[in-house]
Amino acid sequence: MNEQNPLLPALTGAFSTPAGGNPTGAMVEAAYKHHGLVARYINSDVQPEALADAVAGAKAMGWIGFNCSLPHKESVIALLDGLADSARLVRAVNCVVPRNGSWIGENTDGQGFVASLRDVVDPAGQQVVILGAGGAARAIAVELALAGARALTIVNRTVEKAEAIAELVNRETPAKATARAWAGSYQVPSDATVLVNATAVGLAPDIHARLDLDMDTVGPGLVVCDVIPNPAETVLLREAGQRGALTLDGRGMLVNQAAINIKLWTGIDVERAVMRARLDEAIGGWRHPTGGGD
Ligand code: NDP
Repeated sequence: MNEQNPLLPALTGAFSTPAGGNPTGAMVEAAYKHHGLVARYINSDVQPEALADAVAGAKAMGWIGFNCSLPHKESVIALLDGLADSARLVRAVNCVVPRNGSWIGENTDGQGFVASLRDVVDPAGQQVVILGAGGAARAIAVELALAGARALTIVNRTVEKAEAIAELVNRETPAKATARAWAGSYQVPSDATVLVNATAVGLAPDIHARLDLDMDTVGPGLVVCDVIPNPAETVLLREAGQRGALTLDGRGMLVNQAAINIKLWTGIDVERAVMRARLDEAIGGWRHPTGGGD
């Protein structure tokens, strides 16, 4: 980051729509403040037809980087000068970084997940089941494979999407990936060590929605992860915890992804606990009716 001028903050931000529920700015600005960085994060509601102008504006104003969220993660690629490896493999960009005059797209969603997973287990050698085959699943599958996961099983209702991710992982990484159609109650294979819910099932306000999963196949020895950031304790995590599985919530992924973005923009390793506390404050408050939850 350049020399800091209190009258001229470094600018970062996000382009998405709808943007009103995006808590990233609160977390990122808490980190800026904690580390004394003279920087701001502008959460902006940008319609698809205005994305090119928004990106041109960020460049014109000398922003030091920005995030793209839905629905711009793929369309932004045409507006950039290049892609880092993860974004090239995932074909989606959630973070843009200027480097030597070029604007480079990164994908830190999957990296955020892997960083969060590392808090509880080394991804290397794991046998992972990923539920869902959307953008989050694709990013997580690629990064887990690059982090040394041994085998990935991608389970999705629309099996073609799972097959496309498996084909990508098998072509581009040393990991072995398999696709499975999700038909009926899914039974987690007994040799799986990590289970990831990468569907949107359980996201607020549908907090009671259930995955079609045989919970008798979930228990001790399995790490159960959810990408859902709100609520922190989903029905899946609560029940998996009750059955003795180690659980990991989706907020860790969000915090780690944002911390990686800040590192890319400023070079600074920020304090993740400060961001987690601010995130909980911004989107927390919901408690599970049975007493668990956040
Ligand atoms: P997509 O819309 O790209 O994919 C959604 C996936 O969920 C699809 O595979 C879809 O299956 C599956 N799905 C939806 N409903 C059901 C259901 N009832 N039963 C089984 N499968 C279902 O979404 P994303 O991948 O972009 O996002 C998924 C979730 O990840 C969101 O909740 C988002 O909030 C979260 N996320 C969290 C992040 C974090 O940092 N914590 C970062 C990014 C995303 P099908 O293809 O058959 O329709």
